[in-house]
Amino acid sequence: MNADAEAITDSVDKHHAWFQKSLCLIASENLMSPLSMEMYLSDFGHRYAEGLPGKRYYQGNTYVDEVEILITKMLKRIFGCDLADPRPTSGTVANLAVLFALTKPGDIITTVALSDGAHISTARFGAVGVRGVNTVAYPWDEENMTIDVDGSARLIRQVKPKVALFGQSVFLFPTPLKELQDAFQEVGCYVWYDAAHVLGLIAGGRFQDPLREGAEIISGSTHKTLPGPQHGVLLANPRDEKMKKRLLRGVFPGVVSNHHLHAMAALGITLAEFEVFGRKYADQVVNNARTLGQALHERGMKVLGEQLGFTESHTIAVDVSLEGGGAQVALDLEKANIITNKNLLPKDKSPISPSGIRLGSQELTRLGMRESEMEEVGDLIYRVATKKEDPDRVAREVASLRAGFNTIQYCFNEMEEAYKRYVLVAD
Ligand SMILES: *Cc1c(COP(=O)(O)O)cnc(C)c1O
Repeated sequence: MNADAEAITDSVDKHHAWFQKSLCLIASENLMSPLSMEMYLSDFGHRYAEGLPGKRYYQGNTYVDEVEILITKMLKRIFGCDLADPRPTSGTVANLAVLFALTKPGDIITTVALSDGAHISTARFGAVGVRGVNTVAYPWDEENMTIDVDGSARLIRQVKPKVALFGQSVFLFPTPLKELQDAFQEVGCYVWYDAAHVLGLIAGGRFQDPLREGAEIISGSTHKTLPGPQHGVLLANPRDEKMKKRLLRGVFPGVVSNHHLHAMAALGITLAEFEVFGRKYADQVVNNARTLGQALHERGMKVLGEQLGFTESHTIAVDVSLEGGGAQVALDLEKANIITNKNLLPKDKSPISPSGIRLGSQELTRLGMRESEMEEVGDLIYRVATKKEDPDRVAREVASLRAGFNTIQYCFNEMEEAYKRYVLVAD
């Protein structure tokens, strides 16, 4: 090893050691299972398989095809859809594929506003802008932390979007899709649901079921509430053969060449495990998030969605403008090894100094934490954020809470030793 290589391995080791004594509450992250991790490290990660199984451009894809066919089947079964494409390499790439397939430059699509929780890829200066599509934002119902139904129906009828896009990165409550059915029908727009955050909750039966409620297309990330590799999927019930072809071509050759075969194989294991453990996991994720919201609320912190039980997903949003703002609080929490992020809340203007923090329960749930641990986590957050206790002192308690939760749950345990070697490096 030379000095640069040593510096890199050293930094990664330090990162592992740090995260092993931390509480990670970033709502978009999770942990792969040991067996997924083994697939992730396989030779699949060195290969190309452009096209579809049986119709490839390269040789050497015999077993890649077997895996891709099986994963496609599992996705169709789990999400109840006619078309499943596991090739998008991330949620953003899946979004680009949908935009490529269903829109032309200059088209209008309706979306959630960034400050109301939308993702950058659904904004004009993100992936949507790459396609040259214009966006109009739905009116927001702050009390219920979702789109305003009547105003959104009116907006759809008025602007007649090519596509009505839904979904957020601060996704506390289901989107009222059924209520917009008449407006969709009248306008004839495509109905697209970005499930990046809530894909695992949908698969676990613990959130809305968009394809049964009027959505035709789902894009998603496979590493947020779905605890798989960093990758994406596109799921749909296309209206006809032409729409199906356009979606598939949107992915390849549209936006993907190499589709990260190692990640796809790892995703296959995640899905297989999810068919066994997914419901229990999703239940615990939501129960934990609600408990964490309640714990912070009881200590006087301003948790959004109070009258609705704070959340129906893995995420809670906390207004910390009185505690110094999201940026300051997230930094203080990091010093105590509680990893979160600052976040825009409705009405915020500046993404650099927003008033909120966003917390997700899914990773701690994956490590086996339950309601009683969420009470403790809530107290630790409160002591740093509101009481301004010394973060170093709190960090010691964080480490001791975390020390009891070092095994990935809700998965097959065959490869635990290998997983520890690669990911959870002890001391
Ligand atoms: C995270 C996210 C994405 C992008 O996913 P990546 O896999 O990070 O590219 C897209 N849409 C929403 C709503 C998200 O939260």
